[in-house]
Amino acid sequence: MSNVLILADFIGAKLSRTTAELATVAARIAEVTAVVLAPVGKGSEYAAAVSHGPITNVIVVESDSFTTHGVAASADVLNQIITLKAPSAVLIASHAFGKEVAGRLAVKSNSGIITDAVDISADLIATQLVFGGSTTVHSKISHGVPIITVRPNSITPDLQEVHPTIETLTMDIGENAKKSVVTSVQPPEEGGRPELTEADIVVSGGRGTNGDFTAVEAFADSLGAAVGASRAATDAGWYPHTHQVGQTGKTVSPQLYVACGISGAIQHRAGMQTSKAILVINKDPEAPIFEIADFGVVGDLFTVLPKATEGIKARKP
Ligand SMILES: Cc1cc2nc3c(=O)[nH]c(=O)nc-3n(C[C@H](O)[C@H](O)[C@H](O)COP(=O)(O)OP(=O)(O)OC[C@H]3O[C@@H](n4cnc5c(N)ncnc54)[C@H](O)[C@@H]3O)c2cc1C
Repeated sequence: MSNVLILADFIGAKLSRTTAELATVAARIAEVTAVVLAPVGKGSEYAAAVSHGPITNVIVVESDSFTTHGVAASADVLNQIITLKAPSAVLIASHAFGKEVAGRLAVKSNSGIITDAVDISADLIATQLVFGGSTTVHSKISHGVPIITVRPNSITPDLQEVHPTIETLTMDIGENAKKSVVTSVQPPEEGGRPELTEADIVVSGGRGTNGDFTAVEAFADSLGAAVGASRAATDAGWYPHTHQVGQTGKTVSPQLYVACGISGAIQHRAGMQTSKAILVINKDPEAPIFEIADFGVVGDLFTVLPKATEGIKARKP
């Protein structure tokens, strides 16, 4: 029976929700096999985490090379699994790591690649939003095993509980994949807030914060949201670049995006306009971001946000 491979997506040792999103879109095409690449001794633990989404099989490969040799080792093993299992397609999360693995895998397996898909049909036609989200492209890979990276939060995941069969494979990592060595890794900052691309709610601040993100953060915390920022705010050094939303930052697609003191430049919209609902707080009623708002508040964010935070806290049980 034909199958689609998805690369199970982990943040540290924790399976990300993106895995269920990949499985949901993959299940339209064929039976889903999740590939788990784990450090030595952690295979069972990592495989057990793959418990939600329409996943039938899990393939586990343990190797410390995934840490030591990074993307090259992951691509090498995935290529070996392609040879072994002849899947109809391989789907990978569209973040920096996923896209690099996918690119290398496409070269190794002599296959076509599509990155940043926001949807894939049962006959493997991928949808991409390009030119800052202004143009929708439908395309299909015509050569090799289609390798497609899918943007996190683009697909509504089927979170059914599953008990997939688990197959453990032993694989040697090719010498070519060991030529570069990861010498140090900086773990992401622990902020106690959800990861930006994974969060259900994102509250972002722009130049209108004038460098003071206190009200934005307090509002985000009252909602259990992640904090984002426009490039004006990150370039000014007001918030870390890792939180930048937009064309040259991260793409988010949460249930609710709150834009505070952000004008709505095309490059910012490119990273947030697929959000399910958009709330805008801006003191200029002519700000272009109101064009894509579902709810808008014309006002000073330093007045509106504290009142909104108070209101939300008061309604919490
Ligand atoms: C190649 C390229 C790539 C880019 N990539 C990105 C990207 O990835 N992400 C990104 O964001 N930008 C990006 N930009 C920059 C983008 O063009 C804009 O310059 C930027 O998004 C503007 O940020 P902003 O909306 O915070 O600031 P501004 O455009 O200055 O808007 C500030 C807004 O805050 C409002 N405001 C001011 N004070 C208050 C207050 N007290 N209360 C409420 N509202 C207030 C104002 O009315 C205004 O609408 C890119 C640009 C280029 C050329």
